[in-house]
Amino acid sequence: MELMKIIDNAYLLPLGTANAVLLDSGSELALVDAGFPGKVSVVLDAIRQLGRNPHDLRHLIFTHHHPDHIGSAAAIVQETGAITYMHPIDAPIAETGGPFRPMRPAPGLMERIAYRFFWRRHERMEPVSIDRHITEGDTLPIAGGLQVIHTPGHCAGQIALLWQGERMLIAGDVGMNILGLGDPLGFENMEEGRRSQRKIAALRFDAVAFGHGRSIRSGASDRIRRKWAAR
Ligand SMILES: [Zn+2]
Ligand SMILES: [Zn+2]
Repeated sequence: MELMKIIDNAYLLPLGTANAVLLDSGSELALVDAGFPGKVSVVLDAIRQLGRNPHDLRHLIFTHHHPDHIGSAAAIVQETGAITYMHPIDAPIAETGGPFRPMRPAPGLMERIAYRFFWRRHERMEPVSIDRHITEGDTLPIAGGLQVIHTPGHCAGQIALLWQGERMLIAGDVGMNILGLGDPLGFENMEEGRRSQRKIAALRFDAVAFGHGRSIRSGASDRIRRKWAAR
């Protein structure tokens, strides 16, 4: 697999139909999300392509507990010894391997079909233990600084991460960018999800990476503001 650079020192790893983001701070590596199960070799391969070894991956941060974001987590921890981070609302579910909180499909026919197709197949996961709880307002001293922004709605314990001031937002599933910017497949609470989209639209950042779909490399917050500010 060829490493897909988003911006300098940030790479997108497609792990199934879900993305992870690998950050390289020079001294250590951090990974945000862990894709579907069976993807540990993709992560290790990416680490080697950066000229590093698995133990350089020190931090594994999760945007939320869904199976497409923690699927390979236990295997990655086993290979790298990375410390794991998750919001306290979601952590107990990741630690038991589910069951996951119910969601409803986002509005729209395509969303309903995609939701059915996608969601049923991955209902239980290998549990992963969470070392640190992270909440709104935390700034993690990782890879030059990761600011935690609580973005509930798709999932009550979801967070986004603002990297190195305003360089890049790692958005998780607050929205997707598959057929243009849109909703995630489903919501636990749609009103809360809309509020989180507005919260993201009020931030400034150059680039954005989503859990699903394409990243935007520059001018990202302007595009998101146009789409989500008036939700
Ligand atoms: Zn999700
Ligand atoms: Zn997802």
